[in-house]
Amino acid sequence: MNAANDATAADAELLALDARHVWHPYAPMPSTVAPLLVREASGACLRLADGRELVDGMSSWWAAVHGYRHPVLDAALAEQAGRMSHVMFGGLTHEPAIRLASTLAELTPDGLEHVFLSDSGSVSVEVALKMCLQYWRSRGEPAKRRMLTWRGGYHGDTFHPMSVCDPEGGMHALWRGVLPEQIFVPAPPSGFDTEPDQSYVDELAASVERNAGELAAVVVEPIVQGAGGMRFHHPGYLRALREITSANDVLLVFDEIATGFGRTGALFAAEHAGVTPDVLCLGKALTGGYLTMAATLCTPRVAEGISEGAVPVLAHGPTFMGNPLAAAVANASIGLLADGSWLPRVRRIEALLREGLAPAAGVPGVVDVRVLGAIGVVQLDRHVDMGEATRVLTANGVWLRPFRDLLYTMPPYVCTDGQVEQITAAMVKTTREV
Ligand SMILES: *Cc1c(COP(=O)(O)O)cnc(C)c1O
Repeated sequence: MNAANDATAADAELLALDARHVWHPYAPMPSTVAPLLVREASGACLRLADGRELVDGMSSWWAAVHGYRHPVLDAALAEQAGRMSHVMFGGLTHEPAIRLASTLAELTPDGLEHVFLSDSGSVSVEVALKMCLQYWRSRGEPAKRRMLTWRGGYHGDTFHPMSVCDPEGGMHALWRGVLPEQIFVPAPPSGFDTEPDQSYVDELAASVERNAGELAAVVVEPIVQGAGGMRFHHPGYLRALREITSANDVLLVFDEIATGFGRTGALFAAEHAGVTPDVLCLGKALTGGYLTMAATLCTPRVAEGISEGAVPVLAHGPTFMGNPLAAAVANASIGLLADGSWLPRVRRIEALLREGLAPAAGVPGVVDVRVLGAIGVVQLDRHVDMGEATRVLTANGVWLRPFRDLLYTMPPYVCTDGQVEQITAAMVKTTREV
């Protein structure tokens, strides 16, 4: 056998082991679809074991905004690994985490000053909810223990975050009796540019007012509802929520795990509305997609409320909290955004997505085509056949992961114009063929 055959046999063995032992996300065990074996990645491209190259239109679940093997991020990681990869964060601290926390406090909307680092987005939402619940307990109002959110949201897969996910998308029927029951209002009317509907705002206000006695917080994704359905809404709803929650003594949490770091055309989606939430969650693109890390930021009011209570500590402390490797690469990733060149790039990608996806609007079965920042969505009138879609997309050199009735892309900002055009052409082709 020659070397190529050996490699092919070794890869087949790896995939057989994968099928036998590895549980993949949102999949049964054993899985029903074989994953693609990735050997390496650089720039906006994934290189598969069989030699194929795919443009990654997903940024590895929206995280790898600078693409793969970015020299600045690689160097930051190697440099930090040469000092220390990890130390516990209880009683110890270090420069990468200190710099990261102070940079986040500076970059995020005014008023968010304290930063709790954790290891994944879902955990950062757990921490946000814990902060809100503990704030009211410390203030002697334990009855304020429920969350209100709008439908169509997604906040993670651990239990408390799941309770504020869309009840259908989050399979709340399956978890009845296990999940805390939160208060849901209808999803916000669609469209970033569609003027706010006053009757919807009135409904939000009435629901918060009616439930204020037992509400700890309102929790939403600002501007873009991501994994709950890739829907966009007008910033006016966020301004309304800020007024309504303040007037009713309810905290406001923005989950910017998907929208943070430029994806929507503002560094943080809250900037579109010009409001500061009481608590903010960040994750995904925080480390440029290199390592797992998330952050929960809060205002001094929330921190003081907790720290003045009968139990004056926030009882949370992940083993890998503040991981120096992740913090160092996050600092480098944010450093790459600091010169502002991401903004014209995201605007350019937005224009290319609009132009490239426009032909999909005329394809039978397509119900909506929408674009905001570096997010392009084609919504169909039925569930996308993932196997078929993947076949057409990969045959056209593109990696996407459709879900439900959505074929969408969130490309790395480093995508060339040609690569964005390749993604949109493959998407249009997929809507025609699948
Ligand atoms: C992805 C996501 C989460 C969960 O983050 P994980 O790192 O996957 O736990 C929470 N909220 C939003 C808005 C997300 O997009």
